[in-house]
Amino acid sequence: MKHESMYLHPELETMPRSEINRLQMERLQQTLQRCMCIPFYKQRFAEIGLKPEDIHTLDDLQKIPFTTKQDLREHYPFGLSAVPLEKVVRLHSSSGTTGTPTVILHTQHDLDEWANAVARCLYMVGLRKGDIFQNSSGYGMFTGGLGFQYGAERLGMLTVPAAAGNTKRQIKFITDFGTTALHAIPSYAGRLYEVMEEMGIDPRRDTKLRTLIIGAEPHSDEQRRRIEDMLGVKAYNSFGMSEMCGPGVAFECPEQNGLHIWEDYYIVEIVNPDTLEPVPEGEIGELVLTTINREAMPLLRYRTRDLTRILPGDCPCGRHHKRLDRMKGRSDDMMILKGVNIFPIQIENILMQFKELGNEYLITLTNLEANDEMTVEVELNDFTDDYGFLQRLTKEITRQLKDEILITPRVKLVPKGSLPKQEGKAVRVKDLRKTLI
Ligand code: ADP
Ligand code: ZN
Repeated sequence: MKHESMYLHPELETMPRSEINRLQMERLQQTLQRCMCIPFYKQRFAEIGLKPEDIHTLDDLQKIPFTTKQDLREHYPFGLSAVPLEKVVRLHSSSGTTGTPTVILHTQHDLDEWANAVARCLYMVGLRKGDIFQNSSGYGMFTGGLGFQYGAERLGMLTVPAAAGNTKRQIKFITDFGTTALHAIPSYAGRLYEVMEEMGIDPRRDTKLRTLIIGAEPHSDEQRRRIEDMLGVKAYNSFGMSEMCGPGVAFECPEQNGLHIWEDYYIVEIVNPDTLEPVPEGEIGELVLTTINREAMPLLRYRTRDLTRILPGDCPCGRHHKRLDRMKGRSDDMMILKGVNIFPIQIENILMQFKELGNEYLITLTNLEANDEMTVEVELNDFTDDYGFLQRLTKEITRQLKDEILITPRVKLVPKGSLPKQEGKAVRVKDLRKTLI
């Protein structure tokens, strides 16, 4: 049922498909004009004899070449700016999980619109003025810090820029300030709970937390449910990346059935990463995004390398913006073992179904005499020396993993707290294979 107060930007959030398409076309035209101020795009268009005027429909977008992370690196730091540097008021950089960092520039308009998008997301999951919003993201270059800060302030919430690290202090802020909503990466949410337990704090009894925003790294639905159960909260998936501003690109609504991608900011395509052709509707492929609401650094058909699909059908929340499925991972996360393609998230999906297991796991790949081997180490929730039980559990986990990934991994159950912990995004795979060529 439609209800005005459910939406921060009712007109933009509930516009019908025809209206979305019209707005996208209008903003795309403006973006293309802006791109012609960037020598890189000007030359790209000239090379194939394409003019902005040749793009008449959204389907015509396919005539435009893709932009890649490599293009961003080659024009580092200011080469892709569409405006003079005096108009740029902020610079952000990707966290560099997968190589050399890239730079993204913003005008004041870009920052305002980014804050509006994040505010829209937070409002969508029920946060309002009066809520106390704590952000455990790293501040600085990582966009999860300032991105949520400005979005939460725009909504008028009391915002606590706690930043990353120092978990005990983080928890003290939660209890002392009566934090009602927290932004944390999923691997850190589990860590918070562990430390709360050590400190004798029961999140349901001793805190006012009720909403968690989790994102920035792939996680399974099982892991989300665990976080919700542990902390007594509702947890919403948040997707973004520095190249697209940061958080606020796509976000779950209260239905928790996929992430609405804001189509008044981005044109979304899903392509086959090998052929670069659009995949049939509903199929998994690489997410490709075109910014249509950005001044300083518009990006056309940017290959995100993230794999997902568009969920079919309408969402009962009344928003017609397309919904992305939970990210399957990045194309570079894919492991190829004995010719089988495997994503870490497939393994997580299985592990998280065992209540005997904790949240931490590590996949190690080795090759002995040209034979690929996978070892999955996973932490146990409780200590036990019941050897028979451990053996049965190991066997059952191995069997279920084999069913899912088609190869038999070596499963090792390890005591809680024994796997290495990262400050930022979790590292789930260690590939120690030597190339034999
Ligand atoms: P880096 O690329 O260095 O990690 P970013 O902070 O820009 O820097 O990270 C963006 C990437 O993080 C996305 O491209 C995606 O791979 C991942 N990511 C962000 N949010 C999510 C999410 N909700 N689920 C899965 N992956 C996510
Ligand atoms: Zn919805």
